[in-house]
Amino acid sequence: MTFETLGLHTSILRAIADSGYTEPTSVQVQAVPAAIAGRDLLVSSQTGSGKTAAFMLPALHKFASAADSIDVSAADKTPNQERQSARSRGERPRFQAAKPKMLVLTPTRELALQVTTATEKYSAYSRKIKAVSILGGMPYPKQMQLLSRNPEILVATPGRLIDHMESGKIDFSELEILVLDEADRMLDMGFIDDIEKIVAATPETRQTMLFSATLDGVVGNMARRITKDPMIIQIAGSATKHENITQKVHFVDDLSHKNRMLDHLLRDASVDQAVVFTATKRDADTIADRLNIAGFAAAALHGDMHQGARNRTLDALRRGQVRVLVATDVAARGIDVPAITHVFNYDLPKFPEDYVHRIGRTGRAGRNGVAISLVNHAEGINVKRIERFTKQLIPVDVIEGFEPKKSAVASRSTARKPGGWKPGDARSSGTGYGNSNGNSNSNGNSSKPGQRTFSKPNSPSASSGSRSEGSGSGGGYKGSNSRFGDANGNRRSFGDR
Ligand code: ADP
Ligand code: MG
Repeated sequence: MTFETLGLHTSILRAIADSGYTEPTSVQVQAVPAAIAGRDLLVSSQTGSGKTAAFMLPALHKFASAADSIDVSAADKTPNQERQSARSRGERPRFQAAKPKMLVLTPTRELALQVTTATEKYSAYSRKIKAVSILGGMPYPKQMQLLSRNPEILVATPGRLIDHMESGKIDFSELEILVLDEADRMLDMGFIDDIEKIVAATPETRQTMLFSATLDGVVGNMARRITKDPMIIQIAGSATKHENITQKVHFVDDLSHKNRMLDHLLRDASVDQAVVFTATKRDADTIADRLNIAGFAAAALHGDMHQGARNRTLDALRRGQVRVLVATDVAARGIDVPAITHVFNYDLPKFPEDYVHRIGRTGRAGRNGVAISLVNHAEGINVKRIERFTKQLIPVDVIEGFEPKKSAVASRSTARKPGGWKPGDARSSGTGYGNSNGNSNSNGNSSKPGQRTFSKPNSPSASSGSRSEGSGSGGGYKGSNSRFGDANGNRRSFGDR
């Protein structure tokens, strides 16, 4: 299959060739012709599968084809031109609301900027198409200036867009295409009312395309309300396979063990660039600082940073000046940097869906990637939740010299039969991985001379390390290559998430 056979406008084919894409991805193969034909779409496919182009290429095709058939001199004046001619007629210039033809809603600013950048790339030869991002955190005058250019394509986060709609700066009466990118995430973030309001302000005749990790539940309900006879495209199901990403779990005894292991893993020659995920903004800062002291080019990325700082960090990451990005979930959503070879979960995500989004930061555009979760023993249950969601088992691995003390003890003491894992085991056995010998005081004991540790005894999250000091005696994870399931793992039911 080629992009030519998808029936795209020649100006877009040129831009695709410049982007180095040789053939469409599966989601593009299915979505592009249907979207060109004007169908509404509901799409779920894994991160990194090329969804941006799946909605943007057909939209650009439509605008480019329409531009071909319009007499240039008869084209509408932009609000700026209107203003100028009003001035020359001695009238007071009247603000003209922007009338975009396409709106893309995204959950985060980063993602919006990324979609805009991709749009600029795909429309490089379609001179008359302008795309702008309207984002929270951007100075108001700058936004007004962008809107006054009357862009065809608006990429926006819902909150800020509502402000502009309510003050009459944007008029959606001529909107032809509405895209909800990462709709599930927007709902998670509480944007449902904003989205409903925005949708209600657009014409019934619009084409709607919705992208989401899942099309079940709340997202599915909304999707059905706002689309007409949609074509449903589900690639690899809602739980994505990520077959190009090697996933592993390393058990750690405590924070010091975790920090030493992270340091060790980051020094691996196969790490080009990496993202380290933390649960809190504060940890992101602390760990980035520590890694910098340890000699890594590290930087934090989280929602408390100003937009300018976030953009600078992302630029530095793209240019390779930052090698290790330490980020929280929301900030890292949608980051698309091909040189990211590794994702580390310093903390596990709160929701299994976020695990999928996190590991999707690596293995972009068909490359291979590695995703490693550093998990303290009490978090085994969370690993299982992730496994149920992704319908995949994540192998447990052990690095020589970094063996966790507890799982060794647990596996010796429990002598589990192969296949002995049952759903609920870990729950019923408490933390299940502990001995009661007080390993919590072992911080740093086994660190080799000259090896840096990131031990932070007073940090608030130190307590999460000690929570793993369970007294349970059963249900241990075994050592290297053990899994939570077994050879018969395919009998495990994943329906109970
Ligand atoms: P998604 O939204 O599905 O997570 P993106 O649209 O962000 O994925 O695309 C992921 C990466 O794949 C981007 O770097 C993009 O440039 C690249 N890409 C998209 N389509 C193709 C293609 N047909 N061939 C090669 N690379 C592609
Ligand atoms: Mg995307």
